[in-house]
Amino acid sequence: SFQPLNSDFYGYENALTDQEKSLIVELRAFLETEVRPIVNGLWADAEFVPRRIVEGLAGLGLFGQPWEETRKFENSAVFRGWVALEIARVDASVATLVGVQNGLVMGSIAIAGSPEQRAEWLPRLASGELLGAFGLTEPLSGSDSAQGLRTVATRDGDNWILNGEKRWIGNGSISDITIIWAKDSEDGQVKGFIVPTTTPGYTATKIEGKQSLRIVQNADIVLENVVVADSYRLQQGKSFRDTAAVLRLTRAEVAWAAVGNSIGAYDAAVAYADSRVQFGKTIGSHQLVQDLLAKSLGNITASLGVVTRVSAMLDEGTQRDEHASLAKFFTTARMRETVAWCREIFGGNGIVLDYDVIRFFADAEAIYSYEGTREMNTLIVGRAITGKAAFV
Ligand code: FAD
Repeated sequence: SFQPLNSDFYGYENALTDQEKSLIVELRAFLETEVRPIVNGLWADAEFVPRRIVEGLAGLGLFGQPWEETRKFENSAVFRGWVALEIARVDASVATLVGVQNGLVMGSIAIAGSPEQRAEWLPRLASGELLGAFGLTEPLSGSDSAQGLRTVATRDGDNWILNGEKRWIGNGSISDITIIWAKDSEDGQVKGFIVPTTTPGYTATKIEGKQSLRIVQNADIVLENVVVADSYRLQQGKSFRDTAAVLRLTRAEVAWAAVGNSIGAYDAAVAYADSRVQFGKTIGSHQLVQDLLAKSLGNITASLGVVTRVSAMLDEGTQRDEHASLAKFFTTARMRETVAWCREIFGGNGIVLDYDVIRFFADAEAIYSYEGTREMNTLIVGRAITGKAAFV
């Protein structure tokens, strides 16, 4: 049966239905048996999440739950966020892989694709038959991708020719399809293309040496005269506004994953504080260690309030870009404090992978920067407050 998390101090789980809770129970069992035992080994070797994990998560029916083509049961945005939290509290790389497949890739096709494209691609991504990647960021354009993209799409009869480079593309070196966002050479608008990775002229190279989210890999992609039929262009994607609509959905889920990553570190710290003895008593009996634990729980509790509400706003139809941005920068900043306090509780053991906490600590850095840095999400909120965009 469903056990509330010790870290859910105010009982936010009450927002979940009984059916949603029973799915969380199944997800937890899968994560504890299939994922937790292997993550530190994978992290040490920077090895990609095994495909059977992706297929196992797909088998639980967790991909594509917002969309009618792939929806298995009635579910709320809060439930979908909770799934991201549960995965991230075991491992944030796995949560990131799911966020790319389920959010960025399926979200792009669901939001900017035609009904035919949705019917063709969403079920195959939901079943795990296809693995997707989302290619927006470029070597020379990160935060400014709304205006700074250099990848170009040129119309050629019934086809498009894509040229350019992408960087940081999660799953990009092993995906079956990658959504490539490029500027139309004629009207200058950003359009999305479903690019099968076997298309001639597409090359992806794994980025080496990453010290955060080591289990999910990112790629540099080069597109050299890549030809795709117009039927692979996301038909409803007219401008960067449609790309931003995808990012709004996924940013809110990244905020949930940030809370999950904090909880992973917090749970490890609570257990350690109860086992490590110094000055004749467990370190959890010392006042200053209790201070670190209480502040961490405060961050988690405040963040859970933010993510629960921002997802409820999605279901109510009131969530705007600035709401998702506030959730993303607030929860990731709180996460960064929390994982540092929790790591501190371990003393020297806090930098050894076997004790888990350093993985949550290191993974926090990538979560803090991707899907819009703290600065960019702050500026989106700043624009909403003042009516003035400080970043154009
Ligand atoms: P820059 O844009 O160069 O920013 C550098 C610094 O300058 C940041 O602190 C930034 O906040 C600050 N800055 C920039 N402009 C301003 C301003 N106007 N005011 C104040 N500060 C500013 N991208 C994809 O398309 N697909 C993916 O799957 C993907 N996965 C990722 C996975 C990981 C692990 C990482 C690290 C990144 C991933 N990204 C992905 C890219 C990610 O979205 C970008 O890294 C992010 O948007 C920041 O861009 P940048 O790294 O180019 O930094």
